[in-house]
Amino acid sequence: MDINNYCYDGRKKFDIEEFDCDSIGEFNNREEAVDEFVQNLLVINKEQQKLYSERKEGVIFIFQAMDAAGKDGVIRTVFSTLSPHGVKEFCFKVPSSEEKSHDFLWRFWSALPPRGSISIFNRSYYEDVLIGRVHELYKYDIVPDRVKNSNVIKERYRQITNFERYLYETGTRIVKIFLNVSKDEQARRFISRIDTPRKNWKVSPGDLKEREYWDKYMEAFEKMINQTSTGISPWYVVPADHKWYARLLVSRIVRKTLEDMKPKFPTIEKADIDSLKEARAKLAKSLGEKAEKPIEPTPKEFYMSDLIPADIVKQDMKHKQKRATEKIKDNGFRAVRELLAESYMIHSLNDIVDAIAREDEESENNPDVREELDINPEQVKQYIENLNIDEEEK
Ligand code: ATP
Ligand code: MG
Repeated sequence: MDINNYCYDGRKKFDIEEFDCDSIGEFNNREEAVDEFVQNLLVINKEQQKLYSERKEGVIFIFQAMDAAGKDGVIRTVFSTLSPHGVKEFCFKVPSSEEKSHDFLWRFWSALPPRGSISIFNRSYYEDVLIGRVHELYKYDIVPDRVKNSNVIKERYRQITNFERYLYETGTRIVKIFLNVSKDEQARRFISRIDTPRKNWKVSPGDLKEREYWDKYMEAFEKMINQTSTGISPWYVVPADHKWYARLLVSRIVRKTLEDMKPKFPTIEKADIDSLKEARAKLAKSLGEKAEKPIEPTPKEFYMSDLIPADIVKQDMKHKQKRATEKIKDNGFRAVRELLAESYMIHSLNDIVDAIAREDEESENNPDVREELDINPEQVKQYIENLNIDEEEK
C-alpha cells in the first residue's frame, strides 16, 4: 500500500472507526516484506550520513500510540542502522514538577535537533491533547485566570501547529506517526507480557487503567489528527496489529522523509582541492618516500575502531561468521536475507560471502549438503551488489 494512503496532511479526514489496524497492505506474509525493509534501512543509513555531513536541516520523528502498540520496537528496529551521532531518542513521561511549572511546550525545546540531526520523540507534546484531554488534566494547572477556560485543548491544537510551523520555517521538519493498535491486540499483548516472566517488567498498572478509557482515547486521537495534520508536518497513521508491517511502513516513512529532504555530501571547492594537494605534498615530504603511494584508509576489519585489538576483532568476526554459517546451514539462502534484515551483519557482508563460498567449496563433493544449503555464492554476491552498498560500508 502506498505510504500516501496512510498520510494525513490536512486534506482528508481521519476516521478512526473506519481504520483497519489489522491490515498488512499488499503483502501475504512477512517474508515478502524483508527485502524492502532491508533496502529501506540501508537507504536510511546512507541518507543520514548525508544529512549529518551537510548539517543543513534537522528532523523530528514523533511517535504516539496506546500502550503496547510497539513504539519501542519500531524505534529499535527502524533506526538500528543509524550512526549514534546525529540521532537521539527522547522519552517523554509524566511531567516533573519543574516541567509543570512551565508552559507545556517548554520541555521540548532542549530536545530539538541541531541541523543535520534526527530527534526521535517517544511520546511528545501531543500527550497534552491525549491524556491531557481524556483526564482533563489542564484543570489542575496553576495558571492565570485568563488562561483558565474551556477551550484549552482547542487552543493547544493551534499552539502546536504554530510551533511546528515556526520550526519548519526555521529549518526543522516534524513528521508524526501514530501506531494504531486495536483494543483486542492490545489485550493479547498485555496477556503475553503477563504470561512471560521476562516481559513482566513491561506491564504497569497505569497501562491497564488507561485501557479503561479506550473510547475516550480513540476520540482524542481522531480529533488530534484532524486538528494538527498539515502539509508541512503530516501525521501518518500506521496499522500496528502486525509488528512487522508497522515496522516496514515506518521504515518507508523515514526513508521518504529523508529522501524528500535531499541531503547531499558537501563538496569541496576547486581552490580547496588545490590547497589539499599542496598540504599532501608537504606531509608526504615530511615522511619521506614511503608516503608517495596512496595511503589506504583503515583496513575494513577495523571499521569499528582502531582501539579494538586485532585478535579481539578477529574473534568477534569469527563468532559472527560462525553464527552466519550456522544460520545459513539451517535455513539456506533465506537466512542471508534474515541476517541482513536484523541488520546484524550489515558491516560484515564480506564474511557472509566468504562463509558461503567456503561452505560451497566444502560441500562440492557432497551434493546432498549442497542441495540442502541451497546457496549460490554468485547469487548472494549479486544480491548484495544490488543492495548498493559501497565497499567502505561493507
Ligand atoms: P514504556 O512503558 O515502554 O517504558 P512509556 O512511554 O509507556 O514507555 P511510561 O513511563 O509507561 O512510558 O508512560 C509514560 C506515561 O507518561 C504515559 O502514560 C503518558 O501518557 C504519560 N505522559 C506523557 N506526557 C504527559 C503529559 N504531558 N501529561 C501527563 N501525562 C503524560
Ligand atoms: Mg508504558
